[in-house]
Order: sequence, then structure tokens, then C-alpha cells
Amino acid sequence: MNEVANTPRGRGVLACIQCGRCTSSCLVARAVEEHNPRKLMEMIILGLRSEVIAGPLPWHCLSCFTCLDRCPQGGDVGEVVFAIRNLAVREGNIPKGILDQARSLFETGRVVTPSRTALIQREKYGLGKEPMVDVEAVQKILRKTSFDKLIYRGS
Ligand code: SF4
Ligand code: SF4
Repeated sequence: MNEVANTPRGRGVLACIQCGRCTSSCLVARAVEEHNPRKLMEMIILGLRSEVIAGPLPWHCLSCFTCLDRCPQGGDVGEVVFAIRNLAVREGNIPKGILDQARSLFETGRVVTPSRTALIQREKYGLGKEPMVDVEAVQKILRKTSFDKLIYRGS
């Protein structure tokens, strides 16, 4: 637990009293059965490091921070999730879908390429062509932060 609590984003885990309000207020938990913020906090508290780092639990969160609004302790699961993700990524545990998005960001400057339907809708509403992305500028930033090394490790 200390490994998470000692990161700038992971301190909230120290406040958790396992009341479960985060899970009962989380919209993702209603749609995705395995997503359970209270359980994630519990696993961190119990020191189940490898299960937390290698498992899918930290990756469903949409960072809406509803759980922070509802937590009586200011537990801030959303921030703890970021702390876990940072640890997981450093150890090469990145779900394929997330890795694909990260690589797309590096290669095209976009996390998701706009669909044909989206482009047609833009035209329909007079929004013009999709804005250009300065891919070189994006890559410069990502290289400076060594993001590219993380997402192409072992390729
Ligand atoms: S609402 Fe807060 S105190 Fe309750 S289980 Fe979730 S993080 Fe812990
Ligand atoms: S921040 Fe994440 S865990 Fe918290 S309510 Fe939103 S989706 Fe659920």
C-alpha cells in the first residue's frame, strides 16, 4: 500500500474505510460487473500488488470523479487509479486497447481516428474539414516524456 500512498496521486488510499459508497455511486460499476472501486482500494490496502498491477480493475475507470464527491473520507479513487496505472505501465502492463490508443496518439496525433460518419456529420453541420493535427509537435512532447519508450517497449 505504501508504494501507492507515497505517490502524489495515490494518497487517497490511506483514507479509505471500505464503506463502498464509491462503488454504489460509480456509473461504470453499474455497466461493468468486474469494475469495483471499493474492491480496488481493498486490494491495495491488503497489499495484493501483483493482482492490482496486472489485473483489469484499474483500467475501467472513466475519471468522472463522482466517487470523490460521494466519498466520506475524500478517498479519491479516480486519482488512486492514475497512480496504479502509472505503476502498471512502468512494468509493461498495458491492456491492448489502451496500448492501441496510445500508439495512435503517437503516430497520428489522435487517440481515435474520426469515423466516416463523424466526418459526414461535421459537413452536415457546417463544421468544415477535420482540424489538422501537428503530429511532429505531439511526437516531440511524447519523446521528451519518454512516452514512446513505454508504448513501443519490446516491439
Ligand atoms: S467511498 Fe471512499 S471510504 Fe468508502 S470505500 Fe470508497 S474510497 Fe473507501
Ligand atoms: S472516477 Fe472512476 S471509479 Fe470513480 S466514479 Fe468515476 S468511473 Fe467510477
